[in-house]
Amino acid sequence: MREIGHFIGGKNVAGTSGRYTDVFEPMTGEVQGRVALASKAELRAAVENAKAAQPAWAATNPQRRARVMMRFLDLCQREYDSLAELLAREHGKTIPDAKGDIQRGLEVVEFACGIPHLMKGEYTEGAGPGIDIYSMRQALGVVAGITPFNFPAMIPMWKFGPAIACGNAFILKPSERDPGVPMRLAELMIEAGLPAGILNVVNGDKEAVDAILDDPDIKAVGFVGSSPIAQYIYHRAAGTGKRAQCFGGAKNHMIIMPDADMNQAVDALIGAGYGSAGERCMAISVAVPVGNGTADALMEKLIPRVESLKVGPSTDPSADFGPLVTRAALDRVKGYVDLGIQEGAKLAVDGREFRMQGYENGFYMGGCLFDEVKPDMRIYKEEIFGPVLSVVRAKDYAEALRLPTEHEYGNGVAIFTRDGDAARDFAAKVDVGMVGINVPIPVPIAYYTFGGWKASGFGDPNQHGPDSIRFYTKTKTVTSRWPSGLKEGAEFSMPLMQ
Ligand code: NAD
Repeated sequence: MREIGHFIGGKNVAGTSGRYTDVFEPMTGEVQGRVALASKAELRAAVENAKAAQPAWAATNPQRRARVMMRFLDLCQREYDSLAELLAREHGKTIPDAKGDIQRGLEVVEFACGIPHLMKGEYTEGAGPGIDIYSMRQALGVVAGITPFNFPAMIPMWKFGPAIACGNAFILKPSERDPGVPMRLAELMIEAGLPAGILNVVNGDKEAVDAILDDPDIKAVGFVGSSPIAQYIYHRAAGTGKRAQCFGGAKNHMIIMPDADMNQAVDALIGAGYGSAGERCMAISVAVPVGNGTADALMEKLIPRVESLKVGPSTDPSADFGPLVTRAALDRVKGYVDLGIQEGAKLAVDGREFRMQGYENGFYMGGCLFDEVKPDMRIYKEEIFGPVLSVVRAKDYAEALRLPTEHEYGNGVAIFTRDGDAARDFAAKVDVGMVGINVPIPVPIAYYTFGGWKASGFGDPNQHGPDSIRFYTKTKTVTSRWPSGLKEGAEFSMPLMQ
């Protein structure tokens, strides 16, 4: 059986805590290996390695640091197929979807290759008599990332790509459910020329996370996962004086205006609602048709599409989506469908009984579709994180705008319309961090920033794009004057530039 340890000091090391957890293959339901869960001492060993290696890396000129990232990009292209297969077998998503997970991570590494330009400071000549001022960005030192199961390639790269390019050493604590790809990415970084100790992967659970949060040598923590954990990490990390950016769960709405092209809206809902079995933080989980006529037209087209979704094993390239990540996740999602029925929502398509022939122990379910969901129901308020779409009928545009604005979560939102005025008004007023106009999953491209609002994000700034360089560096400002500009005598009043 495969045994996954940690990646510390540039090499794979076995776990020593004696604690492990199973890694499943969701498409068969079998245990395919086990991953070590780090102790506080193992986390500390990673920090010691990182701390020793970081100053020399920060002193390596930024062009050379960028070249390591460029070689890493090449190596990931070489390994693209094998990484995607490893990812699909641990996560459960289909191979084409796994390739997208890797690609969206690589795009942030591509962005980080611009580090010589991105880390430039500012300079003002003659800010006062004989006085020049300049600012510089410096690495923080040792920083950490704690990442979720649902994008085991993309989110680790969103974190370590910019952090390492800035000259930091990085401790990654990936999800214990699918640790294989993060470990492989660390090996590829070393092959690309990264010095040992600059990227460490410490596998584990709460014990490893708490050790990160309490470690005085870790200067910043980037987290992505569910909202209760995001909030916990934000508080505890800030309590020990760290920078913290913690991104949480979501309930993403898609508004369908009466003038929308209904075929396009249905295509968008099917892909964004059920792709990756709904296990995406930017998945659409609530459809909001405006007016009963729009709702009826939507349901008429949507029901047969949901009924004909093709669920399959991760290795079937023709499947629309694969199994959920674990049996516990499957039971949880089915529990929400049961709850929705109890709460009085109308289950228009029921995928709970779906069985995958030949893979009877896999963690599969079919697509589910609820109509007549009301804002006070728990299936509306809480994140389900599965292939379940809820339709909330809004009587008019004002109500449709109010729903995502007043929802606890504020990650992504979309509006489908041909009306530019409505779209512009919606984008300006909705209280959500990322907005799509006729784009169902508005994940910003790597050189913009990604971040949700309200219960979807604690701390700032956003991840990737220019904000990532701000997050992983500190600014130093130097005010300089040379002897020819100095006047004789002490100055006791507040210095002024005159
Ligand atoms: P999770 O919160 O269970 O786990 C995330 C990380 O936190 C993992 O590394 C895990 O080991 C660790 N963790 C779990 N419980 C902990 C505890 N009690 N104390 C300390 N650490 C703990 O999330 P998940 O199930 O892996 O991922 C799915 C969630 O992530 C969903 O809520 C999804 O919306 C969210 N997500 C958000 C974004 C975003 O950018 N906003 C992106 C992807 C996923």
